[in-house]
Amino acid sequence: MARLIFITGGVVSSLGKGLASAALGALLQARGYTVRLRKLDPYLNVDPGTMSPYQHGEVYVTDDGAETDLDLGHYERFTGVASAQSDNVTAGRIYQGIIAKERQGLYLGRTVQVIPHVTDAIKEFVMTGHEGVDFLLVEIGGTVGDIEGLPFFEAIRQLGNELGRERSAFVHLTLVPYITSAGELKTKPTQHSVKELRSIGIQPDILLCRSDMEIPLEDRRKIALFCNVRPERVIPGMNLGTIYDAPLAYHEAGFDTQVLDVFGIKDAPPPDLSRWRAVVERVKKPEGEVRIAVVGKYIQVKDSYKSLIEALTHGGLANNVRVNVDWIESEVFEKDAAAVYLEERNGILVPGGFGERGTEGKIQAVKFARERNVPFFGICFGMQMAVIEAARNLAGLEGAGSTEFAKSRAEWPRHPVISLMTEWTKGNEVQRRNDETDLGGTMRVGAYDAVLAPGSRVAEIYGSTNISERHRHRYEVNIGYKRQLEEHGLMFSGLSPDGVLPEIVEIPDHPWFVGVQFHPELKSKPLDPHPLFASFIGAAVQQSRLV
Ligand code: GLN
Repeated sequence: MARLIFITGGVVSSLGKGLASAALGALLQARGYTVRLRKLDPYLNVDPGTMSPYQHGEVYVTDDGAETDLDLGHYERFTGVASAQSDNVTAGRIYQGIIAKERQGLYLGRTVQVIPHVTDAIKEFVMTGHEGVDFLLVEIGGTVGDIEGLPFFEAIRQLGNELGRERSAFVHLTLVPYITSAGELKTKPTQHSVKELRSIGIQPDILLCRSDMEIPLEDRRKIALFCNVRPERVIPGMNLGTIYDAPLAYHEAGFDTQVLDVFGIKDAPPPDLSRWRAVVERVKKPEGEVRIAVVGKYIQVKDSYKSLIEALTHGGLANNVRVNVDWIESEVFEKDAAAVYLEERNGILVPGGFGERGTEGKIQAVKFARERNVPFFGICFGMQMAVIEAARNLAGLEGAGSTEFAKSRAEWPRHPVISLMTEWTKGNEVQRRNDETDLGGTMRVGAYDAVLAPGSRVAEIYGSTNISERHRHRYEVNIGYKRQLEEHGLMFSGLSPDGVLPEIVEIPDHPWFVGVQFHPELKSKPLDPHPLFASFIGAAVQQSRLV
């Protein structure tokens, strides 16, 4: 039966709890154990699918179509274990289930309460579907003391009790700030945070203390004393040059050893960290560099492109180069010529996005890349912009556009090259949607197969003609325009197995011009860079030799 490790946070958010969890997962794997990681999010949204990227960062999509928290992306990148709907739950979803049961009368007239009904639902979620794994890591979102987090903390407290010392461990992540005027590190926030945790009945076994500088032994002893934790279980976590150093740094600080020690495991094999060492080595000592322009909309909030940034880094790892990203707000091209911003870039990427603002600028960026032979990668919305550009400027379809921007049918573009598909098949099932369907959970989301044209660039890149990639979008390239666009040089090199939904477009006589309807960045990993990113950065390296 799995051992459970609960990871909570204190003092402030954004300390890297997800990353610490992911790194611990990688360390346990490196010792030969199997792991699964889960995230419990205390907010009331049913899923992060409809949350603004400005507020919540990227929505991470799983194979089974769950729209989840971006921490699941960290988990997958570090452990390679594909996450699923059963790995992320919010308070909203828990309550939705309870209220539905209450309405059906399934509580038989009893009063429905936070304890035991909400806590039981949380416990059931945690304890379901992890058969066969050695360790289940469960991260609680937010920080201890948040009102909405209380049922979750109570649920894991109960679980700790039920599972006992041999099967549960509590890790708490805090901050040890440096106060300039005093010239010293302060342990008080950590003490208070642990006090808060203990007041709800949880005594942490291990403290991870984030700090900008080395935490002297004396301070670690003090934290141990005040927080009732052994000194060797106060683990310092310093800022790192690259996140991929986290498994090595945490191992160095004794994190995995202490976790195993909590469970009384003394004879675990030492971890094989050679692959992580190689990654860090490559990140730190690249042989060259490329400049990639990412032309997007939410560029102020880098978390909204979390997986994309990581996938570009992985593409760099595959080619032994550093990838420097220039973030360009697409609206600027609506005022100035694209060339002002895009000269001297080795590659241009237009990522996913929603809504009309900035689209004409993105189309300008595609045009520049196409005409100037700069490697171009369009992802999801970026592919749709590339199709609109080709329709207007290659096929001469004036007024080509997307129906996404029309409030009513009357406002549809003259050539709706991007439009809503009302029906498609997934496996043997027919799926439907229309203009009226709710926004939440109505997109084509999750893993879908695609068939690639033999001899196309993408078939060569993948080394296969059958692929599966993750989607998250509502609109599609209109298959009705396939013949016209192909006649003018835009090849439809990937289609859904039923041939109805365009999945990939490419321009064969361009150095590298690929648009994909899916999100390849979600499956890229430092130990296994996605082939499209590796190939795109490879093309950028070629291009950098020309300029
Ligand atoms: N807005 C587009 C759609 O819904 C693209 C979405 C995306 O880029 N993820 O189809």
